Amino acid sequence: MKRLWQSWMIALARSPRVTRWMQGNRATASIARRFVAGADAAQAMSVARDLEQAGFKTSLYYLGEYVKDPAVVAENGRQKIAVAESLSAAHLQIHVSIDSTQIGYALDEQAGQALALKIGARIRELGQAHGAPPVLMLNMEDAEYVDRILALRASLLAAGVPVAQTLQAYLKRSADDLAPIIAAGGQVRLVKGAFADPRPHAHQGKAAIDANYLVLARKMLSAEARASGFRPVFGTHDEALTAEIRRIARNGGWQPGQYEFEMLYGVRTELQRQLRTAGEQVRIYLPYGRDWWPYAVRRVGESPRNAALLARAVVSG
Ligand SMILES: Cc1cc2nc3c(=O)[nH]c(=O)nc-3n(C[C@H](O)[C@H](O)[C@H](O)COP(=O)(O)OP(=O)(O)OC[C@H]3O[C@@H](n4cnc5c(N)ncnc54)[C@H](O)[C@@H]3O)c2cc1C
Repeated sequence: MKRLWQSWMIALARSPRVTRWMQGNRATASIARRFVAGADAAQAMSVARDLEQAGFKTSLYYLGEYVKDPAVVAENGRQKIAVAESLSAAHLQIHVSIDSTQIGYALDEQAGQALALKIGARIRELGQAHGAPPVLMLNMEDAEYVDRILALRASLLAAGVPVAQTLQAYLKRSADDLAPIIAAGGQVRLVKGAFADPRPHAHQGKAAIDANYLVLARKMLSAEARASGFRPVFGTHDEALTAEIRRIARNGGWQPGQYEFEMLYGVRTELQRQLRTAGEQVRIYLPYGRDWWPYAVRRVGESPRNAALLARAVVSG
């Protein structure tokens, strides 16, 4: 049932007509308010400051994906640099998330790489703010993009950019992609994966994906990972997984802050607070911008319980 619901929502996310209609329809903005931190960087920065005061870290994400218009690609690049500068000016850690397909990879790989290097160079130059090193976090997209995104990570790393990589537990290949990053002392955010992919390269069903998440989490919290200086990030709202990860971390001698949890703005906020109160480092992924529909409807797809949210927005539209 969840898989079917998720597939419908992914189809809605990819429809340009539905996107235009929803983003032009004020009533559906209730969905945007739930999952998106604001229409522009000023609003997102205000939310980021409030969260920091409440003891959370943040990662800023200017919305937009699978972009094919060169003018929008250029604007996305400017926005990524501008928000890094705003974070630096506000003395907040520079932590910016990015999709390869929003900076040109769906259009021209070389131009996309050049723009990623420009953003990365600016982030490196801005350097440490708020006592924490800057991070350019590469999101992971559908399976066709994995090799290209890992190659992008390698080129950013070679240019001295403080780059971190998202990997997805639903993909069987992720163990092989993770191993060299652990050995080199890099940083990985582990997520389950926001794609419903029936093909054999993907684990099928919650039980298999959760089991692989834990296999990978154990590697990320292994003695080898500690020795190499690897920085584990667990991007999940799954309480059973966060409990088990905390247990593994404690047994392995990891302190909160040497690893962290990261959750999406507006999702399981009570769990975010519980973990924070228990002394864990919790980062909130803060999406903002006007191109909110594809992101927000995928969040709706992650829980059939969000059906009511969608129905209310459409009916009152
Ligand atoms: C910081 C961060 C970054 C991410 N980056 C990427 C990425 O780069 N690429 C990618 O493919 N995916 C990404 N994702 C999405 C991820 O792959 C999952 O689709 C999403 O996090 C849901 O999985 P879960 O681990 O929370 O587990 P689930 O088993 O889906 O959910 C666990 C619990 O949380 C609740 N829950 C989860 N999501 C929602 C929601 N949207 N609304 C209401 N309740 C919810 C569920 O109902 C359930 O109770 C990211 C997620 C996070 C947290």
